[in-house]
Amino acid sequence: MSDLLDLTAAAAAERVRAKEIDPGELFEAYRERAAADELNAFTWVADGPPAEAPAADAALGGAPLAVKDLFCTEGVPSQSGSRILEGYRPPYTATVVARLHRAGAPLLGKTNQDEFAMGSSTENSGFGPVLNPWDRTRVPGGSSGGSAAAVAAGLAPWALGTDTGGSIRQPAALCGIVGLKPTYGACSRYGMIAFASSLDQAGPLTRDVTDAALLLGQMVGHDRRDSTSLEFPGELTLPSAEDLKGIRLGVPEELTGSEGGVEAGVRERFEATLRLAEQLGASVEPCRLPHAPHALSAYYLIAPAEASSNLARFDGVRYGLRVDGDADLLSMYERTRSQGFGAEVKRRIMLGTYALSSGYYEAYYGTAQKVRTKISEDFREAFEGFDFIVTPTSPWTAFELGSKTADPLAMYLNDFCTVPMSLAGIPAVSIPCGLSEGLPVGFQLAGPAFSEGRLLDVAYALEQAIGFDGSEARR
Ligand code: GLN
Repeated sequence: MSDLLDLTAAAAAERVRAKEIDPGELFEAYRERAAADELNAFTWVADGPPAEAPAADAALGGAPLAVKDLFCTEGVPSQSGSRILEGYRPPYTATVVARLHRAGAPLLGKTNQDEFAMGSSTENSGFGPVLNPWDRTRVPGGSSGGSAAAVAAGLAPWALGTDTGGSIRQPAALCGIVGLKPTYGACSRYGMIAFASSLDQAGPLTRDVTDAALLLGQMVGHDRRDSTSLEFPGELTLPSAEDLKGIRLGVPEELTGSEGGVEAGVRERFEATLRLAEQLGASVEPCRLPHAPHALSAYYLIAPAEASSNLARFDGVRYGLRVDGDADLLSMYERTRSQGFGAEVKRRIMLGTYALSSGYYEAYYGTAQKVRTKISEDFREAFEGFDFIVTPTSPWTAFELGSKTADPLAMYLNDFCTVPMSLAGIPAVSIPCGLSEGLPVGFQLAGPAFSEGRLLDVAYALEQAIGFDGSEARR
């Protein structure tokens, strides 16, 4: 049994297809693990086998999937980590989840997250914080913290998360697993409870790069229900690169220097990984992203602005919680929203509403959009001389529960290295690159739009050279 749980998802799927493993047994083994979750990683776990057994030759081989709470799943609680959606069971399933079901990854459970994906520690969840399996006094990162903790702890073979400004990559880094944010538009957003629609993307959280490629390959593609989704150019094959000959890696001073406050232990692992890349044949040179230091400020205007609009629909009438007021409708809205939303969500709604208010719109939202364009241009220029840009994923390793909750700006700094790629809409992956004082460190690689195939190939070659062992967190 423990052998079964030691397999990566791709390895388990392979054995299922070879009829060496029964997919029902695989599902049940994980279901038992997930049901005994001590990390608060799950908000809901399947109570029995999937209604439809996966086809014997399915690409994903029946490897069960943990899904972030904010993906709508028919008849199953989908609450986006918020009390305002407590008990909400949607009448339909998000496109990417449905695609993965059809490809042979049945729903294992829904995972805990920061409320409406706003946060970097999963402490903003309306359903309590998630614990990091490497050290239970620490956060798993966020907002996809439940998905990251579940995969790292071996409670699920793989998971779905979403990334708006870092919410797949940063928890992957803090939990010692692989997390990929695809190109904006690569995956359908239909059925994802929206945070910031111009930034939100679904992506895989997995034990290794091969699993990420396998899962992503079944997620991408145009969906007529999401007009921003695109056909993925070319095919995504499993990564196989053994070296990095001819690959030019750019290291942006703006994101790796003192400004982002990168911790010494993280810097040390980052630099050791750069040396490994050189040994594999890559060239590693400094590059420039002059506007990247302004990414956080622009993001924390654009994302709250979009959120304030997206969250207007939660009014006590259509979904979830309703707190009755006096006879008038307005007091019902007021009470529902003031009791249903948590403090961080309220802060973002106020920030966003202010940024969009007439008289301030141009000065705040308009300026942030111009900065966003500048950041995209920086990347475009950098990719003329480099194949990929590399940075630490997060400036620091997993921090103690409660240590940043009183200071929102300190919490926002988690996203320093991940937000620029989100604003530019380009793909980026975080892979574990070793430990610092016993805690995992993430290495981020970003490439031009739709370079996922090559990006994962490079990540794979590095992963083999790094040889990170995550088994300690699965015990
Ligand atoms: N931590 C960032 C925020 O709070 C990013 C969250 C995300 O990517 N969903 O907005």
